[in-house]
Amino acid sequence: MIAFSIAPLQIVRTLVQAVTCILAALALSTGSSPLLAQAIPENDYRFGAVTWMQRSAEYRLMTEQTYRYALSQVAVGVHDRKWTADEVQLTEGGYESKKPAVVLDLDETVLDNSAFNARNIINNQPFSSANWNAWCQEGKAKAIPGALEFVRGAQGLGVAVFFLTNREDVVKSATVENLKQLGFDATEVNVLTQNKNEGRGDDKLSRRAAIAEEHRIVLLIGDSMGDLCDGMDEKDFKKRNDVAAAKVSLLGTRWIMLPNPSYGGWQRALPKGAEALETSEAK
Ligand SMILES: [Mg+2]
Repeated sequence: MIAFSIAPLQIVRTLVQAVTCILAALALSTGSSPLLAQAIPENDYRFGAVTWMQRSAEYRLMTEQTYRYALSQVAVGVHDRKWTADEVQLTEGGYESKKPAVVLDLDETVLDNSAFNARNIINNQPFSSANWNAWCQEGKAKAIPGALEFVRGAQGLGVAVFFLTNREDVVKSATVENLKQLGFDATEVNVLTQNKNEGRGDDKLSRRAAIAEEHRIVLLIGDSMGDLCDGMDEKDFKKRNDVAAAKVSLLGTRWIMLPNPSYGGWQRALPKGAEALETSEAK
C-alpha cells in the first residue's frame, strides 16, 4: 500500500520540477521573469548602490544638503565678477562682464536613473547603449532630491542654467520633456547633448566653451570629475586620483560633486578582478 501511495507523489513532484526548469529556462531566454527577480538581486554587484539611492535616508539627505550648499555658493559667486568655475576662463580672463550661469550634468546629478539600473538587475542585463537610449526615450527619470530647488533658486538669483549631458542628440527631445515634466525650465537650447560626429564629444570641453562664450560660469555641478574638468581619462586609478587631488581648491567651492555609487569613469581606471580590492591595513 505504501509503495502505491508514494508513486503518484513522486510523479507529481517530478512534474513540478520539470515545469520549474522549463520556466527558469524561459526566464533566462527572455531576460524578464519574477523567478529571476527572486533569485538574483542581492547577488548583483549593483544591488547595494541602487537600493542606497532609492531607499536610504542618507542618500536623500546628502544630495539635498549638497544642493543647499551649492545654492549658497551661487549667491556668493553671482555678485563677484572675478569669480568663475571654468578653468579656461580662469586662465584666459575676459569673462568678468559676462552674464552669470551655472552648468549642471544631468544623469545622477539632476536625473535619477536608478530605476533603469533596477530593471537591469531584475532582468539580469548589463548596461548597453540600446537599453540606455530606450530608457532615455521613455522620459521616466525622477529628479535627484534638491536639484529642482537649486535650479529654481539659481534662476531666482538671475543666473542662467545649462544642462550639459553626455546623453546623445537622438534622445534630446525626450530628455527635455522629462525635465519639463519634473518642473525644470528646460529647452532645446539649454540642454546640450553630445554628438562626436559634430565635434561635441563626451569630454564636454567644446560644449562648456560654447556656454563660456557669453557666460561667466559661476558653478559646475556633476557626479563625475569629467563633468568638471579635463584629464580624468587616466587608466590608472592612482594617477586619476592624483589629477583630482590637484583640483582641490575648486572642489567644494566652485565645483560641486554629488554622490553616485552606481557607475562612473572611475570604474575604467580599476585594476581587473580582485586586484581592485584593498584588503591590507594602512601602513
Ligand atoms: Mg552624471
